[in-house]
Formats: sequence, C-alpha cells, structure tokens
Amino acid sequence: MKLGAIEAGGTKFVCGIADEKGNILERVSFPTETPEITLQKVYDFFKNKGVEAIGVGSFGPIDPNPNSETYGYITKTPKRYWSNFNLIGELQKNLNIPMAFDTDVNGAALGEATWGSAKGLKNCLYLTIGTGIGGGALVSEKLVHGMLHPEMGHIFIRRHQSDSYVGKCPFHKDCFEGLASGPAIEERWGVKASELPIDHEAWKLEAYYLAQALVNYILTISPEKIILGGGVMKQSQLFPLIRKNVKEMLNDYVQTKEILENIDDYIVYPGLGDNAGLLGCIALALNI
Ligand code: ADP
Ligand code: ZN
Repeated sequence: MKLGAIEAGGTKFVCGIADEKGNILERVSFPTETPEITLQKVYDFFKNKGVEAIGVGSFGPIDPNPNSETYGYITKTPKRYWSNFNLIGELQKNLNIPMAFDTDVNGAALGEATWGSAKGLKNCLYLTIGTGIGGGALVSEKLVHGMLHPEMGHIFIRRHQSDSYVGKCPFHKDCFEGLASGPAIEERWGVKASELPIDHEAWKLEAYYLAQALVNYILTISPEKIILGGGVMKQSQLFPLIRKNVKEMLNDYVQTKEILENIDDYIVYPGLGDNAGLLGCIALALNI
C-alpha cells in the first residue's frame, strides 16, 4: 500500500510517499510560497504516484473538525497569503483521494506512537521547539481535539528572575513560545541559536522554561513519554538540563518510575528523527 504525506509548514512543505510500515519511498521539500505556487508543486509530486490516501499535517491554527463549515481550513494566521485558506478543499479538488487532516504535531505524536519512541504506548506528548512551539498529544489512544486543538506553545509560565527579555509572541509577548522559541532565543541573545556555545547560559534558561511547560503537561495529561523535536532540540545538551529541572520542579510529587528512575528514557528526542513530521502524516493517512 502506498500512502502520501503532506507536511505543511510555515517555512517549508515536505511531501512524501511511504508504505503502511512507515518505510519512506520518496520525499521532497520546497519553501512555502503563495498557495498557488506551493500547491502546484504538491500536485506535480503526487501525479500518477498511485497513493491510496494522504495525511496532511499542517501548521496551525487549523480547523480539524469534520462537522464544521470551515473543516480543512488553515484559519487565522499571521502567515501571509495563508489566512483562512481552505487547504483540504483545494487539495481535494486536484487530488481527489481520501485525506486526513490534523496539526503537524498531532501527526508527529501519532507517528511516534506508531513507529517511534512512544511505540505501543497509548499516551504521549510531542512538542516541537522551532520557529514556534507546538504540541500534539495522544491520550487514551486518541489524538486530542476539542473546541479546537491544543495550543500548547501559548501557555503561561513563570519568567526567570534574571530574564528581562520582553518576549516574542505577537499575541501574549511572554508566553512559553514568546520566551522559548528559536527566534526568542535569537532576539534575547542577539546571536543565531545554532551559533550559541553549548555552555552558554542561554541553554540553562531555555531548559528552565521547557521544564516548566513539561511539568504542566505531566500534571494535566499524564503522558507516558515526552518527545521533544524541532530545530532548537538539535542542542542535545538541553536534554539532561531539562530532565534535571523537571525532577526538581516536581519535587517527588509524582511518584512514577518514569520520573524517579527512568527519566532519561521518558523525555527523549524523536525516535523517527527528522522524519517525525513526515511519518506522522503517513500515520494520519493510515488511520483514516
Ligand atoms: P520550523 O519550526 O520552521 O518548522 P525548525 O523546527 O527547524 O523549523 O525550527 C527552526 C528554528 O529553530 C530556527 O529559527 C532556529 O531558531 C532554531 N534552530 C535551528 N537549528 C538550530 C540549532 N542547530 N540549534 C539551535 N537552534 C536551532
Ligand atoms: Zn503566545
């Protein structure tokens, strides 16, 4: 069986084809331009490929509710040309095959639970820390939707007393994303995040903010595994710092072996690596 993936990102689109076991057969990526230019490339890629279903994982906010009038839309986004855009409607017009639609991070959570580091688990959390911060969650084997979908990047966390940076979020300034996204790190320190030395205090502060958010998610949805992806997590020195902070902040309140004994295996990098997003879309397609 051949399944298709469309990972619609604010910076780039990734399209791919894989089998039902998650073996990737083909993959392309191109920058996100206007919908006309970008979708034409998507149509060209899938033409005559014989895929049976496509999973679309998109940057948000989106409308994933099949009963809603605006199902399939990317809703109000600051991303130029894409606000209130009927993504699934346009894709269906041209490709006309079954499609699943969800946030990119919900897809990635499902992909990790199917083939990655949360394989076999019924509850997991996938968080991306990149240009923005977003989270997807599998709870009792179901991806979390509700009134909308989780917007885990915009929770409020306590500012560190040494941090006077105003915050980058256009809506809330110093919400989690406003303090801890890649662009927030870069504006606070005036250096590209990838060029900050690994022992720079920026990473201690970053781990402090990430740990606070994780503690909130641990206490609310009780994931069995927490997967941290996105460009910022390429800084692997963050992992031990985050785990240490999470333990200290929980202060023995949550008495599980995941936290007390196996935290190195509880807060982890995506098992699917850089394919977490793409295979997430394949997992969405497989679940239609
Ligand atoms: P996006 O969020 O746009 O889908 P990424 O997850 O790759 O893409 O995130 C990009 C952001 O991550 C960049 O703006 C940069 O701030 C940060 N970033 C990328 N690579 C690194 C790195 N090696 N170290 C630290 N930060 C990085
Ligand atoms: Zn915000």
